[in-house]
Order: sequence, then structure tokens, then C-alpha cells
Amino acid sequence: MNDFDLVILGAGSGGYAAALRGAQLGLSVALIEKEKLGGTCLHKGCIPTKALLHAGEIADNTKHAAEFGVKAQFISMDMLAVNAYKDGVVSKLHKGLQGLVKSRNINFIEGHGKLVGKNQVEVNGTVYTGKNIILATGSYPKTLPGLEIDGKQIVTSEEAMSFDYVPKSVIVLGGGVIGCEFASVWNSFGSEVTIIEGLPRLVALEDESSSKQLERAFRKRGINFEVGVKFASAAKDKKGVTITLENGAKHTADVLLVAVGRGPVSANLGYEDQGITMDRGYVMVDEKCRTNVPGIWAVGDLIPTLQLAHVGFAEGILVAEEIAGLNPRAINYDGVPRVTYSEPEVASVGLTTAVAKERGYDVVELTYDLAGNGKANILKTAGSIKLVAQKNGPVLGVHMVGSRVGELLAEGQLIYNWEADANDVASLIHAHPTLSEAMGEAHLALAGKPLHAHG
Ligand SMILES: Cc1cc2nc3c(=O)[nH]c(=O)nc-3n(C[C@H](O)[C@H](O)[C@H](O)COP(=O)(O)OP(=O)(O)OC[C@H]3O[C@@H](n4cnc5c(N)ncnc54)[C@H](O)[C@@H]3O)c2cc1C
Repeated sequence: MNDFDLVILGAGSGGYAAALRGAQLGLSVALIEKEKLGGTCLHKGCIPTKALLHAGEIADNTKHAAEFGVKAQFISMDMLAVNAYKDGVVSKLHKGLQGLVKSRNINFIEGHGKLVGKNQVEVNGTVYTGKNIILATGSYPKTLPGLEIDGKQIVTSEEAMSFDYVPKSVIVLGGGVIGCEFASVWNSFGSEVTIIEGLPRLVALEDESSSKQLERAFRKRGINFEVGVKFASAAKDKKGVTITLENGAKHTADVLLVAVGRGPVSANLGYEDQGITMDRGYVMVDEKCRTNVPGIWAVGDLIPTLQLAHVGFAEGILVAEEIAGLNPRAINYDGVPRVTYSEPEVASVGLTTAVAKERGYDVVELTYDLAGNGKANILKTAGSIKLVAQKNGPVLGVHMVGSRVGELLAEGQLIYNWEADANDVASLIHAHPTLSEAMGEAHLALAGKPLHAHG
């Protein structure tokens, strides 16, 4: 049987979430994948990079053990063992996901798929027909003109993830989320790291205050960076890669990581042939992820929304529920939590001060310094929680920097998405001593009744 309610092209976060939810709602589902179930996030993105970051955290803890009265000596990284640990995590999750897909009776079809009709996808000569088709082919790492990825000296995140050695020196081209996470990892592992960013600051989509704090923390860790300067050219020799910037400056390192963003995987897949509206390779959709062609939907990194795994999950679920007639609410993208998992972490939800002002809000701001938080002192981390709020109204944005602050974002997103105001949160009791207490303290201060803060 090759006829399904739902045919999904691509089994990454967006595609497999749609498959799991669709099957749960009683739809017959075909899920097509040319590589591995789980896609970028599981095999080349979120999970392996977070395992590397955790190995880096342990290296840093070892180096700083004496500050906590623990005698330990950092000798070196064993990259084969690091990769075995990382691959073990990925493989366990992969097996679990395979079991889940099987248990929901989803037809998993291996092979390269192409859209060959408005309701048809062809894989290895077989045509699968769907009452609905979901395009979820994801994204690939981009490079710049004149910058050829050789996989050894000039690499993307895909190769960088599985290095079997620690490079002595690395240039990271791009100071966005992926660039900053790798810079953090390699610094922890012992490389000399330099980030080059064309925009005026690191993690430029975050609130300006968060970028400033991350830059300060990176400087303290010995991570070099240049911002507001563009790449001009690169040359390789046996000693390494030398890049020249538009301002004439040159940097040389063993390895150049190109982390300049990700582009949609949509070329030669038949999308345009079926009349789907595209823009710069992205598939254009409405607020329910419908393309202009009835019965064809698109989710995840293939559409121009935030390139995050949990956004892919949410879009996949949204489409499955819409197809099943549940009429789900459209996604509020401002309410999506965002984390850069470097050391320190940068976490945010809602609007930055600049965007809130652009949208005409009468904005008030409150920054609670983690220096006043007991647990932050125990961890020896620095940072803050910044609240952006409407004057006498709800919290519009939560912006945090510090070790482990990504874990505080669960509360931040409830605050934002439930449109809580300072008093709503100030009345909630936070456990002492936790980092989450800082969230309570920030709202106490915003409500005009600071406890462990001046003012
Ligand atoms: C280094 C890195 C770190 C990241 N860290 C995080 C993080 O910490 N948190 C987070 O939320 N996000 C993170 N992301 C982003 C996250 O991985 C993506 O947003 C997410 O994977 C997008 O899901 P997707 O389903 O749209 O695409 P993908 O996961 O890319 O899946 C698309 C799938 O489609 C398949 N495919 C493509 N074309 C075809 C075809 N013609 N036929 C069959 N199959 C096809 C591909 O093989 C792939 O498996 C990270 C990304 C990278 C690169």
C-alpha cells in the first residue's frame, strides 16, 4: 500500500514530530528519510554539541578544582573517549526514537525523496501518495564565496563535531549561536580560539546587554574575538589557514570553522515544479505552515522561522493537528525559548528592549545581578537576569546570562507566554538556594520590593 493520509519528506525534528503526532491522531503516515531518523538535531546538531560542551565543562571544572578545595589535575582531552561518550548518547536516543516510530506504526521509508506531484513523493522509483504532504527537508551549513570546505582545515559544524584531536588554534568565522558554542568547547579543550563576526556583536539576535556580558565572559576565558569586521579571503598551507579581513587584518590558525548560518535544503526536490512559492530557497507558508499549494505543508528549518529543534517539533505537531481537524492555535514565535549553550549560557524569551521599543511599548527594564544570588556564588558564576516589561503591564522579555541559566528559561517562558506581570511572579516562592531564586528576586525588584538587591 503506497497511499497514506500523510507523507512526510525528511525525518528530522519537524518531520518526525509531525509523524508521531499524526499517527497518534489516527492518520496513516509515511516518513521518508535519506540519512538517519532524527535529522540534524540528533546526529549533527543539538545533542552532539551539548555532549561536547558538557565534556568541556568537566575539563574546566578539573582545571578550576583547586578553587573549590579539590585536588585534581587536568592532563589533556582524550578525543576518542569524548567522541565515544558523545556517540553513545546519540546512539541511545536514536534507538529510542526508532522504537517510538515503530510503536506508532509509522511507515519509515529509507531513501532520497522528490516531490513529483501535488500529492506524490517518489523514492527509489516508488511513488507514495498522500492526502497531505509535509516538506521537512531541513537545512545545511552555508559557506561564503571563495571559501571551500575541505573537511579538514576548513570545516563546518558537521566535521568539527567529530574531530579526533584538539586543534592548537582555531578561527571561528561567525559569532552566532553555533560559532559561540564551538568557541566555548574548543577553549575548554585547550585550543587558542578567535571568533570573527561581521555584525557589531556576538549573538547579535540577543538583547544587547546579553551580548556585552557574553563578550566580557569570553574575554575573561581568553577567547579572542573581533566584531563588526567582514571576511575577505582565506589561504591554506601546511601550517594552517590564514584569513584576511576586509580591514586588512590577518589571522592564522590550524583550523577554520565556518559558522555563517544555515540555508534551506530545497534545491532539485521538485518544490518549484509543483508551483510552491519559495523565497531564497525557503518554502513560504502561512501561520499554520500551509504552502500556497493545497495539501502541501512545510515545517522546520526549511521555512523562514527560528532554526531551532523545538520550533520544528512545534510546527510538526501544529500541522498534524491541523490536518486532523483539531484547529490548533498558531505559534507565537516571540514566545519561543532560545539558548546559546556556551559557558556562560545565554538564554532568552520574548522581546529585546530594542524590539519592544520598536513595537511602541512604554518599556521598563530591571537587571538582577547574579552576584546577589547564593547559588551563583557557590557555582562561582557571573551574569544577570534582565527583565523587559511594559510599564504597569506584563513582562515582555526575559534575558539571562550565566552558567546553567538555560534551565531557568522554563519559568521565563511561562512568565512571558502567560503574560504575567511583576507582582504575579513576585508572589511565588522560589526555593533557596537555587539559581531560580534570581528569577523571583528580579520580579520582586521589578514590583518595587527588592529583597537581596539594592534599590
Ligand atoms: C551544530 C548545531 C547545533 C544545534 N544546536 C541546537 C540546539 O541546541 N537546540 C536547538 O533547538 N536547535 C539546535 N540546532 C538546530 C536544529 O538542529 C534544527 O533547527 C533542527 O534540526 C531542524 O529540524 P528539521 O526537521 O527542520 O531539519 P533537519 O533536522 O535538518 O532534518 C531534515 C531531514 O530531512 C532529510 N532530507 C533532506 N532532504 C531529503 C530528501 N530529498 N529525501 C529524504 N530525506 C531528506 C535530511 O537527511 C534530514 O534528516 C543546532 C543545529 C546545528 C547545526
